[in-house]
This record gives sequence, structure tokens and C-alpha cells, in this order.
Amino acid sequence: MVETQIIPRNIKDRRVLEAMLTIPRHLFIPEEALWSQAYSDFPLPIGEKQTISQPYIVALMTETLELEKTEKVLEIGTGSGYQTAILSMLANKVYSIERIGLLAARARKVLDSINCSNVVIKIADGTLGWPEEAPFDAILTTAAAPEIPQCYIEQLNIGGRLVIPVGEEYSQTLVKIIKTKEGIIKQEMGGCRFVKLIGRHGWKTEDTL
Ligand code: SAM
Repeated sequence: MVETQIIPRNIKDRRVLEAMLTIPRHLFIPEEALWSQAYSDFPLPIGEKQTISQPYIVALMTETLELEKTEKVLEIGTGSGYQTAILSMLANKVYSIERIGLLAARARKVLDSINCSNVVIKIADGTLGWPEEAPFDAILTTAAAPEIPQCYIEQLNIGGRLVIPVGEEYSQTLVKIIKTKEGIIKQEMGGCRFVKLIGRHGWKTEDTL
């Protein structure tokens, strides 16, 4: 996976490559029948109409955060917990929010089984961020928002990085934000397609109105 999909697409951060070589991705896929595809170049279903992201996208989003093992990171959308495990190897502490209880519980179990002890998971609406634990050095959102929730910027440290897919339901742009003393720097990193970020500051459904 790393040699054929990640390095050829220009992911250079050695620590990201190392983490992706180390974390057993198949363990995060609940259906064992899909394990033979766990290292392939596409997302896979994890139940509850959600997906584990394509390996390259995980690598790209992680590299974008420029982590050096000292950071406090917020992840929105724990999903399978695979991206969380990668972050846990590269950051000091990871706070991860998932809105679907079953997915959060499964992710916790797999993360514990591979000794990811620097991860805290909570079941909540991640569009609100995690104000009690802010500020964060980095924030990563693994579901797509119609617009960037303002609270993510507020909950970033100066110098902090945010990576988030933003756009329409079926087509988004991956956006990197750097918070500086003078304001924010915004970089667009290309097209992507994620499931919806559902919540008060994301896409609305009947139960979030
Ligand atoms: N990075 C994950 C992985 O590797 O498995 C992929 C996660 S999946 C693409 C996106 C996740 O975001 C889903 O599990 C979904 O339930 C979750 N999600 C959507 N809206 C959310 C919200 N407001 N707060 C927390 N999680 C949310």
C-alpha cells in the first residue's frame, strides 16, 4: 500500500509513511470478508452507512497537519478509528469525536487492542468542536462540511492547522487552514469526496434541527 499508492503520490513525511506501515488497517474493518481489500486504493464500508477513508487520503490529510509528536490534536469523525490510530503515533494526544455510538465503541476496542493509549473518544456532535479541551494544535475533519464551522478556527492555537473537506454533498475541496496572529491562511488541496458532516454547524437532518 505505502509503496504502490502513497509514495508515488508524493507523500514524503517519513513519520506518516512509518505510521502507515505500522498500523494494521484490516483490523479497523468490521467485516472480515473485506480484509483482503483492506490495503487497496479505495474506501470501504464500516457499517452505519459510513466508510473507512482511502489510504492515500488518510496519508495526505495527516501529512498536511505537519505533526511532530508534541501536538494536541482534535479529530472529528472517528469512524473506524484507523485515522485516529495514525494520528496517535504522530501526536502527543488525540481527542476524537464520533456521532454514532456503535462506531465509537468499535473504534475504542480496536485502538485498545493495539495499545493506542493516548486517544480519548467521545460520542457527540463534532461540529461544535471540543471547547473544554481547546485549544488544539491541529484539527482534522473526516466528514465534509457545507462551510467551515467557525468554532474550529476559534479552538485552534496560533500556528495551528486545520484540514477539512468543504463543499457540496457529492463533491468537495480539501482545505487547509493555518491560524496566525494576523488571521487565517487558506490553501486548497484538491478535490475529494467524503460522507457528510452532520450536526448543528454541518449538514442538517431531522434529528439535528
Ligand atoms: N477517518 C475515518 C476512518 O478512517 O475510518 C473515516 C470516517 S468516515 C469517512 C466519517 C465519520 O464522520 C463517520 O463515522 C460519521 O459518523 C462521522 N460524523 C459525521 N458527522 C459527524 C459529527 N457531527 N460529529 C462527529 N462525527 C461525525
